[in-house]
Amino acid sequence: MEEKAMKFATVTAVLLMIIVCVLLPKLPAIHTWAVEREEERIAEAELAEQKITMSDLTIKNTEVADDTEQRQLRLKLPAGVKGSDITISNDYVTQTVRIELPQTEVSYFENDPLTGSSNHIDNLSYAVSKGSSGLIEITMDQVYELDMDYDENYYYFDFLTPHEVYDKVVVVDAGHGGRAPGATKQGINEKDIDLGIVLQLKAIFDNSDENIGVYYTRTDDSNPTFDQRVQLANKSQADLFISIHNNSTKSGRMSSTHGTQVMYSESDTKELGSKTFAQICLDHVTEALESRDKGLVEGDEIYIIRTSEVPVALIEVGFMTNQEELNLLNSTDYQKKAAEGVYDAVLDAFAKGY
Ligand SMILES: [Zn+2]
Repeated sequence: MEEKAMKFATVTAVLLMIIVCVLLPKLPAIHTWAVEREEERIAEAELAEQKITMSDLTIKNTEVADDTEQRQLRLKLPAGVKGSDITISNDYVTQTVRIELPQTEVSYFENDPLTGSSNHIDNLSYAVSKGSSGLIEITMDQVYELDMDYDENYYYFDFLTPHEVYDKVVVVDAGHGGRAPGATKQGINEKDIDLGIVLQLKAIFDNSDENIGVYYTRTDDSNPTFDQRVQLANKSQADLFISIHNNSTKSGRMSSTHGTQVMYSESDTKELGSKTFAQICLDHVTEALESRDKGLVEGDEIYIIRTSEVPVALIEVGFMTNQEELNLLNSTDYQKKAAEGVYDAVLDAFAKGY
């Protein structure tokens, strides 16, 4: 009995030694990482504390004489800052333009740096963080493309509607995203298949010679709200709105049910409306995939279909509850074919007068 206890103690001691030997070299790294995270957190908190935000500002209207200054907005560059030092981003999903300025004092914002017309601008805010970096956020009432230019004193902005830039406008929505996986089968998430198809479609549009402006609700694992998704279509006055999803049986159990279905808005009764476009999508996607035609389905119970002001089609590409179709949907080759079918549908819809 005593011998057994000794053996157990020896084995335990050896095991402990091995664990310590393996972990010891990693300890400093774990420590450094923890310290860095804490430092980052403190720095962020300090930054937030020192941030001065000014909201509900108006844009000073100015009468301007020469042509270059007739543009909608004119931003006075801070002293010592060149136009090329400024970073500008345009988030179509939230219709927010962000202008980042280096070396900016609060006094700069107090002297109305933005002048021009406040047409189509819903909200404007300025913020200055510690380290003197300034941020201007402009929220627009629609999706706009920026037309910009600068000289040594000013940055100039014009806001163009998508239709002023492109012949045709399409909004593409990948279903779900982030913490909303959609249907989940055998460790495969619907959100990833939906995004996979949309990214294949993006690759096709990016290489297309057609002058089609395409706006995506997401091109990563984010999860825009339903309202943001449909408003991207409404606020860009898109000619077509396509949402990519995948199906499952009501019970969620694996079954023999398979094929492609397309949902449309039954309240849109225009000849070149949602239903006709949905049929075009169904024809081309089933042709490209050689999948079973499961027909059209009324979709007004779905928010993004009901509230879409433009022709909408929600494509349920295949059934994740069918083993064969699940395997296909999970492959790049099938996702690419699905994307080709959707692209053909878009071109066909435009040829038919959409
Ligand atoms: Zn879905």
